[in-house]
Formats: sequence, structure tokens, C-alpha cells
Amino acid sequence: MDPAPIISLDRSRRAVTTAPRRNLSGLTRPELATALVEASAVAPDKAKMRAAQLWRWIHHHGVTDFAAMSNVSREMQATLAERFTLTRPQVVERQISRDGTRKWLIRFAPGIEAETVYIPDVGRSGALCVSSQVGCTLNCTFCHTGTQALVRNLTAAEIVAQVQVARDDLEEWPSPKEERRLSNIVFMGMGEPLYNLDGVAAAIDIVSDGEGVAISRRRITVSTSGVVPELGPLGDRTQAMLAISLHATNDALRDELVPLNRKYPLEQLMAGVRAYPGLSNARRVTFEYVMLKGVNDSPAEARALVKLMGGIPAKINLIPFNPWPGSPYQCSDGATIEAFAAILNRAGYASPIRTPRGRDILAACGQLKSESEKLRASARRTLEPAE
Ligand code: SAH
Ligand code: SF4
Repeated sequence: MDPAPIISLDRSRRAVTTAPRRNLSGLTRPELATALVEASAVAPDKAKMRAAQLWRWIHHHGVTDFAAMSNVSREMQATLAERFTLTRPQVVERQISRDGTRKWLIRFAPGIEAETVYIPDVGRSGALCVSSQVGCTLNCTFCHTGTQALVRNLTAAEIVAQVQVARDDLEEWPSPKEERRLSNIVFMGMGEPLYNLDGVAAAIDIVSDGEGVAISRRRITVSTSGVVPELGPLGDRTQAMLAISLHATNDALRDELVPLNRKYPLEQLMAGVRAYPGLSNARRVTFEYVMLKGVNDSPAEARALVKLMGGIPAKINLIPFNPWPGSPYQCSDGATIEAFAAILNRAGYASPIRTPRGRDILAACGQLKSESEKLRASARRTLEPAE
């Protein structure tokens, strides 16, 4: 008997038992094909076809077990299960608000936790607010997440996993074409998405794929506090809708509320927005404006806002300030918010007032925060990926 095959068989067995099994459920299509070949599960000439088959099971049907892949042979199922996993991250806490808003605290790895929020009756039928980072490096004074130090960027797989966890809980597999509960995605959870553009762009590629979760790029909104140099790349790479956290109409106040403004002041920010790829009347930018009592809510500021936006296809989302433990602001009165909105409306801008959702479970805008900060002193040094 020729000993060569036996030796190579032994070697591959050893490799399989010692190497950790790779999770396939958050890989992009090309990564999936490459992973199958690298693990010698599939021959290179069959990789694309096999990846397409698995893709549909993972992203259209949402399966977490290779045994559920009914058009894959038993033998191949076993090979895949030996070399890969499809497991979800752990849901540490699940809360449901009186208004139907759901919040999940997800643990991706020890000390790496972030929150995801599902808000019914937003967008076409319901929006999922996903986190792009654990914590945030920016310190907007009105934001709870800003009080938490950055632990690290979430990977594309971890961002996609938030959508998968929500879909599991909403029992929305296989991915429906019509009448979805989860119809829109907003990057308005924890973190600054434009400091993690690689992860965000790959995640958008995965969830917008028509053979999978299939949420169109026009139903995906990325919100930024104003990382101007990344606006162009965001539009080019993702074709996502843009939201800008504006909150002030002059540099002095914005410097205070959104400290990143000191780096990219209003003039640069507005020029960056005007140049956003694909901006048109059909694809407007959203300006988010948190209503802070006595700070940024005067009629004069509403008029200044109209002037600032001059000519940009835009709508304004007025967000009543959501308090959190120890927050230094109060929310503007209802009448003040109405008067502010009326000025914007008269100038021809749609300016819906965002109804606070899930406040009772601290799931509303700017209330998210995880306990991951507890680890930051020593563990951060080892956990943060080398940049
Ligand atoms: N870092 C990004 C995305 C996450 S914040 C950004 O800043 O745009 C999502 C939205 O919630 C932003 O518009 C943010 O300004 C707003 N927000 C933060 N704290 C808030 C609070 N306490 N009440 C209401 N909105 C808040
Ligand atoms: Fe970070 Fe956005 Fe909060 Fe500012 S508002 S601290 S950028 S998450």
C-alpha cells in the first residue's frame, strides 16, 4: 500500500482537531468561498457554486446547523460540521418595552458586548438599530454611549450577527419578500460607524445581498457624527443612506455638544454632505437634531438650520432628548419642539419629530451602553486588535 495518502490524511486530521472551527455565518461571499477551499472542504473549481448554495442556507433560511441543509449531502454536511460552525453569539439579556421595542445585549466574546434595538412601525415596517463599535471614542455630551470608553470595533460578522439574532427572535426566517417585520437597518446604535468603515461596508454587502437577508441599500442608513473624510468612501462603497448628527447650527455650540466638530467644523461638514455620492431629491440626507432644553431649541436656531442646509436635499429628524442616569440635559418642551418643526416645515423641509421608543428599557437613541467598559483598564490592551 502506498503510505503517502495515509500520512497526508493524518496530517489533515491533526489540523482539524487542533484548529478552532471557523464560523461561516458572517463571511462575505468571496470569504466564504475561500474559507471552504482553505479548509480543504471543497475543491477550488467547485468553491463558487458550493458557496452560493451555503449562502442561501445561511442568509436566506438563517440556519445554524449544517444538518438542516437538505440539498447538501450527508457526507458534505459532516465535513462542514467538522471544520466550521454557524453559531450565533450569546444573547445575554433580552428586554421588551411596553411599546413593543426589543433590545438585546449580545456578547460576542468575553468582555465584548453591544446592544441592538428593534423598533416596530418605523421605515416600511420596522427598523433594526445596530451597533458598529463597543463603546465610542467620541464624547458627545448628550450621549450615554459616549461615556463608555471604546473597547473595539465590531467585525462585519458581529454586525451581521445582530441582524441574525433579531431575525431569530422575530421568527423571520426564511427571509420574506413582503410584509417583513424587519424592513430597515439603521447604524444608530453604539459607536461611530465611520471609524469602522471596513466592517460596516462588508456587513452592508452581506445583508443587502438579494439571495439572503436582502434588505436593500436604500433601506440602510448610516448615521455619523461627522467624520468628513469618510463620507465619500461611505457613499462609494455602500450606497447607503446618510444621516448626519448635527445638533447645532454654529461651531461654538457644536464644538461643545459634538467635540468632533473641532476637527471637522460645520463648513467642512456641510461641504462633505453636499458632495455625498448619490444625493438627490429621491435620496435625501437626514439631519438629526437632538432637542435640548434651552441649549439648541430656539426659533433663531431653527432659522439658522434652514440657512445652513440651503440647497441640500434633506429632511430633519428632531429627536427629543432621551435622558440617562446622570445626563446633564433636559428635553425641550413639546410646544418648543413643535414651534421649531413648524419653522423647518414652512421652509419646505420635512421634519418629523421622532417619537421616543423603548425609553423604559433604555433602548431609545443615545441611551445604549454596555458593561464592557469594566474590562477596559487591563483587558483592553489585549483585546483591541492591532491597527
Ligand atoms: N455615532 C453615530 C451613530 C450613533 S448615535 C452618530 O453619532 O451619529 C445615533 C443618534 O442618536 C445620533 O444622532 C445621536 O446624536 C443621537 N443621540 C445620542 N444621544 C442621544 C440622547 N440622549 N437622546 C437622543 N438622541 C441621542
Ligand atoms: Fe459616539 Fe454617536 Fe454617541 Fe457621539 S452620539 S458619543 S459619536 S455614539
